Amino acid sequence: MKIAIIGAGAAGCFCAIEVKRRLPDAIVDIYEAGNKPLAKVAITGGGRCNLTNSFESIDNLKEAYPRGDKLMRRVFSAFDNRDTWEWFENEGVNLVLQDDHCVFPASQDAMQIVNLFLTRMRQLGVNILTRHKVDSVKSLMDEYDATVVTIGGYHPGTGDLFEGLDLEIVPPVPSLFTFNLPSSPVRDLMGTVVEDVTVSLAGTRFKASGPLLITHWGMSGPAVLKLSSYAARHLAEVRYDSTLLVNWCGGVDLDSVRSTLQRNAVKNPLKLIINSHPEYIPSRLWTYLVTKSKIRGDARWAEIGPKGLNRLAETLSNDSYHIKGQSRFKEEFVTCGGVSLTNINNKTLECVKHPGLYFAGEVLDVDAITGGYNLQAAWSTGFLAAESIAKRT
Ligand SMILES: Cc1cc2nc3c(=O)[nH]c(=O)nc-3n(C[C@H](O)[C@H](O)[C@H](O)COP(=O)(O)OP(=O)(O)OC[C@H]3O[C@@H](n4cnc5c(N)ncnc54)[C@H](O)[C@@H]3O)c2cc1C
Repeated sequence: MKIAIIGAGAAGCFCAIEVKRRLPDAIVDIYEAGNKPLAKVAITGGGRCNLTNSFESIDNLKEAYPRGDKLMRRVFSAFDNRDTWEWFENEGVNLVLQDDHCVFPASQDAMQIVNLFLTRMRQLGVNILTRHKVDSVKSLMDEYDATVVTIGGYHPGTGDLFEGLDLEIVPPVPSLFTFNLPSSPVRDLMGTVVEDVTVSLAGTRFKASGPLLITHWGMSGPAVLKLSSYAARHLAEVRYDSTLLVNWCGGVDLDSVRSTLQRNAVKNPLKLIINSHPEYIPSRLWTYLVTKSKIRGDARWAEIGPKGLNRLAETLSNDSYHIKGQSRFKEEFVTCGGVSLTNINNKTLECVKHPGLYFAGEVLDVDAITGGYNLQAAWSTGFLAAESIAKRT
């Protein structure tokens, strides 16, 4: 049996190893456009490779996979995050689970993963053909019994690759980015972190919570990245021109924030407002928010009055910023869109129209928030494609 894999990335290499273990006599050729396999894996997680997640903070898979959650539920029945943990530990990679539920190699070195894959592929006899860009999947399919497409994030330049296959493609747009707030003075507070904020986009239902980081260009941090992922397509449609609403009090509603402020005013009438920031809001940010609420710097709680109290409560629970443009987060980004899941048999990852053709990894219209979920999708779909190919024989 001859198997072609297009793309020596996370999904392609994982698939190659798993298929060769099941079919040792098969010829497995990986075509890689670049001059090195696994080039992206080498830089994942800032060079540390956040290879999966415990999924403990995820109640519903859609929170992790805004696109493709249903497919991932299916795929995880074949190979999930626990299988991933076991797989790497069996291969001699010790893993560590961080407090934020992200899983890394204990070595904190993505090259350990790259070298492991390269060694296993060499031992198993997988042929890696670097500097071999595939221009037509169809022509390879004529030569091989099974073809797996694992080219990563799909982009329009990939167009001809699928010529003659009549596939439905979901137009690609970026996901996982930070927000530019070009005219906002909040940027003067760069480096400020608030651990639990809720961010949303005005006039939409897109909302996310978590830590927020103020940067010199705008806002970043897990809450913002998550929101960029949930709203990736919407933000592309409005050309990254939107209104960001920030609840600095972890999603506590306006009335509750107002009541808390009121109690504070009664309890500490002579204290300067500017000197009484809540524990979770750093003092510089508090000063900024108090000033933004048009409250004098020398005002005491006794002087705030109902209007001042309302303005401050509004700023704390519903602060608004004009987003104009997006920036990449440490170059970590994924593609929202790609090969539509309508083309795919979700039990096998085989193309419905073309038996023997499989898809795995980011080329599919599946993408996740940060935290190891994207690599998990690559391992799981690579595994299922390998298993399905082996079952065909
Ligand atoms: C900087 C950065 C950091 C990241 N960190 C993390 C992280 O820590 N955790 C996490 O879960 N996710 C992370 N991600 C996302 C994750 O890396 C990807 O989702 C994952 O690599 C996708 O795997 P893949 O195999 O589908 O694609 P890729 O790993 O991108 O591999 C695709 C391969 O196909 C090759 N190729 C493309 N077209 C052709 C062609 N026509 N012919 C032949 N070869 C071709 C490419 O050269 C590439 O080598 C990160 C992404 C980036 C950009």
